Amino acid sequence: MHKILRLNSAGHPIDWINYQTAARLYYLNHIICECGSSSIRLRGGYNRLKRHRSFLNLNSIVSTNNINKLDYSAFTPPLVNTTLFKRDGHQCLYCGNIFSHNQLSRDHIIPLSKGGNDTWTNVVTSCKRCNNSKGARTPEDARMLLLAIPFIPSRVEYIILRGRTILADQMEFLISHIPKSSPIFQRYTKP
Ligand SMILES: [Zn+2]
Repeated sequence: MHKILRLNSAGHPIDWINYQTAARLYYLNHIICECGSSSIRLRGGYNRLKRHRSFLNLNSIVSTNNINKLDYSAFTPPLVNTTLFKRDGHQCLYCGNIFSHNQLSRDHIIPLSKGGNDTWTNVVTSCKRCNNSKGARTPEDARMLLLAIPFIPSRVEYIILRGRTILADQMEFLISHIPKSSPIFQRYTKP
């Protein structure tokens, strides 16, 4: 089932919510704007007297009346392999080939044993073969060239990376909130 993109009252994306949470927000009158161009139809109960089933149409993007002020600059998403591999488009940043999740690994550019950190800017997606041949060496020592510079996903980029099935209007909205220079912008807007 598709998730609903929740915005704060200023129209900034906060996160995905499931339809139960969205239905509750509708019920509590917390939705101040329906900003998407598509909707998800929920089936309600069957009314015996009226002999019809009730429906609730949830908009794909909703803005809610919370006064949650998000600090976009200080945001660092949790570092997990699923999001890391998606950040790099499931591409090994050494050999350039695309792999499935279980053929990939987290490579520390400066190895942990040499004082490197387990942080977004020191980790890249690597196939297991490249990771093995690099071993506990830096790319320079191993004579392996990095194909891209690792970066910390912004809050909106992180929302994109966490989305499983993103509707076209949701993607269009999210993409409009990230800079054109972002590798994620370039990946998702490629013709
Ligand atoms: Zn590789």
